Amino acid sequence: MKIKICGLKHPDNIAEITALGPDFIGLIFHEKSPRYVGNECSEISTGNFKKVGVFVDETAEKILETALRFGLYAVQLHGAESPEFCRKMKASGLRVIKAFSVGAAFDFGQTFGYQDVCDFFLFDAKGKNPGGNGIQYDWDILKNYVGETPFLLSGGLRPSDAEQVLAFRHPMMAGVDLNSGFEIEPGLKNVKWIERFMKKLTTFKKLPNLNFSPDKRGFYGQFGGAFVPEMLHPNVEELQNRYLEILASPSFQADFDRLLRDYAGRPTPLYLAPSLSERYGCRVFLKREDLNHTGSHKINNAIGQVLLAQRLGKRRIIAETGAGQHGVATATVCALMGLECVVYMGEVDIKRQAPNVARMQMLGATVVPAISGSRTLKDATNEAIRDWINNPENTYYIIGSTVGPHPYPDMVARFQSVISAEIRRQLKQQTGRSDPDLVVACVGGGSNAAGAFYHFLKRKKVRLVGVEAAGHGVDSGKTAATLAIGTPGIIHGSRTFLMQTPDGQIVEPHSISAGLDYPGIGPLHAFLKNCHRAEYLSVTDDEALQAAFLLARTEGIIPALESAHALAALEKLSFRTDEVVVVNLSGRGDKDLETYSTNLEKFQ
Ligand SMILES: *Cc1c(COP(=O)(O)O)cnc(C)c1O
Repeated sequence: MKIKICGLKHPDNIAEITALGPDFIGLIFHEKSPRYVGNECSEISTGNFKKVGVFVDETAEKILETALRFGLYAVQLHGAESPEFCRKMKASGLRVIKAFSVGAAFDFGQTFGYQDVCDFFLFDAKGKNPGGNGIQYDWDILKNYVGETPFLLSGGLRPSDAEQVLAFRHPMMAGVDLNSGFEIEPGLKNVKWIERFMKKLTTFKKLPNLNFSPDKRGFYGQFGGAFVPEMLHPNVEELQNRYLEILASPSFQADFDRLLRDYAGRPTPLYLAPSLSERYGCRVFLKREDLNHTGSHKINNAIGQVLLAQRLGKRRIIAETGAGQHGVATATVCALMGLECVVYMGEVDIKRQAPNVARMQMLGATVVPAISGSRTLKDATNEAIRDWINNPENTYYIIGSTVGPHPYPDMVARFQSVISAEIRRQLKQQTGRSDPDLVVACVGGGSNAAGAFYHFLKRKKVRLVGVEAAGHGVDSGKTAATLAIGTPGIIHGSRTFLMQTPDGQIVEPHSISAGLDYPGIGPLHAFLKNCHRAEYLSVTDDEALQAAFLLARTEGIIPALESAHALAALEKLSFRTDEVVVVNLSGRGDKDLETYSTNLEKFQ
């Protein structure tokens, strides 16, 4: 949560406040304001904290001149400045915050024109002055704000409001603006009050209080939610209303546990890899999800969702698949349960992944080619959604990763959490303690990583590292490293990071591994990155190949190309000798043999 302290003017007071480490301080350059900072910039302009200059209907020339003199990082515009004016400010290299005065009623439509030309909005209370009125408004009205630009909450915040601020969850709230409520007199802040308030708010960032489950609307902080066409509301709401109750029921748990054990082959081993341990100078354990039935962690989720579908009375299952791994897992469980199964797959992927298509057909599933667009995963997803809209009564849509509208990301993470539950038990047996120092997992949509992280999220000594596919390199234009180069937006029903052009067109991803070749990422990971609970690295195609050959030659295990990304990340980290490192080996490499064999010579 960002904290901006606004309306400072005394150099000593500024020094004390900036020592507290707020994200921004605001200097008011509106002469009529009692907090007008004046023209003396010699003392104020030094120091490299981020200064926001506040202006009311000032000329561009005056603003730019002031920005230069005071070394402003951003301008906050409190008057009737137009979107065009904001664009001009932004073009000059300044960040732009546009303030809006929100009264008992406010038409958020007014903000639309400013979406692309502002970095933040600031929602202030309507009062007789442009800001600093000390008036509060009912924040509930902000629920009507559905824009994409993050905002700062402002308007008469007082020291006693910290709890309320923490309780107020809006997906786009980026922080708070503190001003008159924290003053001894206009322009002179009470340092103690601000210090205490900031402490309270930053406990939010500290782990014990961070909530890694989404709220009722499916938001992890500002990420997640359920952005679906109206036609899908009944299906999605039915799921939202029922999934927790069904998952918690003893009969569900008994069936789920039994199938994971007797059918999928769980628990999968936790294997101390001697060669890797020697190479990296620590204890490297591999969580062997590759040994699951059908060859990856995807079966955990497929079993869970098919059991859920049965309990919702659905007899027909649909799914989308890229490389075919999720399709195969779904077709497998449908065959087991005697359910009809239709898998949508891009026409291009059908050609590229022929063995998996044959598997699905052998298992009795119907594979339907998606023939629109780039004829890959994204188009298959669109076809599956269309099918669901047309068959809301009898059909259940199984999504294969921690993506999609709420409740899918949370539900899939829960099904995959068996991975970290087992890691804890197995580590305890093998090393005497349940917590490793580090967990590493590859991230496509994020389900195997979510499962491997799940029971460690609140154990803050455990370092969590997600590994994205860099493709040819993060800046090469041929990459799938969403968190490295993406920006927030909406994809497949949830708000998260995605790879997009400035005007919102999705950028085609590239990775040598089909399972990581996705332009978005699950909202949980967007959140974990943003609150610094997990770190995300990226690994190129070649680095992944190298790691796959290393594992094959030294441990006798051929990993999936996806999992090879997690292994390659070990080259980029450093370890103490006694450290315990767990790498989630999400799948086996049979499906990737063609790619491996064309690269044999390079890695001989
Ligand atoms: C599908 C797949 C992945 C990527 O999906 P996540 O949801 O990010 O786990 C990783 N590894 C394997 C073996 C896969 O099949």
